[in-house]
Amino acid sequence: MIQQNFIASIWRAATALLLAVALASPLQAADVASMSDREIQSVLDEALEMFAGVDQGANADYIPALAEVDSDIFGIALVTPNGRVFSAGDMESEVSIQSISKVFTMALVMEEEGVDFAPEGVGVDATGQVFNSIVAIEQYKGSEMNPMVNAGAIATTSRVSGDSRDDIWNRILDFHSRFAGRELEVNEPVYESEAATNQRNQAIGRLMYAYGHIESDPDQATDIYTEQCSINVNSRDLAVMAGTLANGGLNPVSGQTVMSAENVPEVLAIMATAGLYDDAGKWLYRTGLPAKSGVGGGIVAVSPGQFGIAAIAPPLDEAGNSVKSQLAIEYISKKLGGNPYEVEPVEVE
Ligand code: GLN
Repeated sequence: MIQQNFIASIWRAATALLLAVALASPLQAADVASMSDREIQSVLDEALEMFAGVDQGANADYIPALAEVDSDIFGIALVTPNGRVFSAGDMESEVSIQSISKVFTMALVMEEEGVDFAPEGVGVDATGQVFNSIVAIEQYKGSEMNPMVNAGAIATTSRVSGDSRDDIWNRILDFHSRFAGRELEVNEPVYESEAATNQRNQAIGRLMYAYGHIESDPDQATDIYTEQCSINVNSRDLAVMAGTLANGGLNPVSGQTVMSAENVPEVLAIMATAGLYDDAGKWLYRTGLPAKSGVGGGIVAVSPGQFGIAAIAPPLDEAGNSVKSQLAIEYISKKLGGNPYEVEPVEVE
């Protein structure tokens, strides 16, 4: 344990140093809307070049199929509310969306039931525990969870309406597809691999059922949750999905309204509380951005009204968050003035 902590602190110091050096040039304190395409593109290109060689972290391997994914995949994309799309690196490779799906299934339930299902039915505080913690469930008998961690996410998936499993599933897949602006598909090998090895999530689903937070068949809820985690996406898809949240629920690429603008603030607030699990506080401190990661290596982040950004790079840190995706998004957002807490003081006459 001591040795692990030691390695972790060296690792943190090394990445902090890398970012500090990268950001040493003065910040542009920019407003994305006023930046030219070339300026924005060059920031993405810089991030790709700077972080492509980072070799910390490792692919998730508790889902066997994820260990097989090419660790060198690295793609970054950014979408603005007026539909400008920027990308750097790999836009072809698709990875499973994993926990990033928690955001969109939660948004679907908010559309169906209203946003208050979250604080009233699931919880919106951070658990401060790993994403598949059973201790966190036990602490309050399944209340005070969060839709961004497995227990809260499985309970959230169990609430999606539908007359049959197929009906529920189609609503979830269709909702994700509308966010991405194209028909998404499931990565069948990943789904099969996780379905064969997700006994821990099955236990979480049953425990949430036992405590009355799931009212339908918990095994079905866990199975549908597993399938939603297996939806395949590339970096551009994730950026369009994030861009839709940055644009009040209107997909800036397809022009379709995907969710009501009035529900978006609550989606973003919940992402901010636990989107990067027990490292959500550190992330928010560094970037100010609501974000969500997945163990497939993707991260989406939203600068409301400014941009949606996403990156994919499979190797993860100890909390289960992509090392390179965090570095790239933090760097780009700082260069583009994406932190919503950062304002120019108004001079008083
Ligand atoms: N499907 C994964 C799980 O439930 C998702 C976890 C994640 O991306 N953090 O374990």
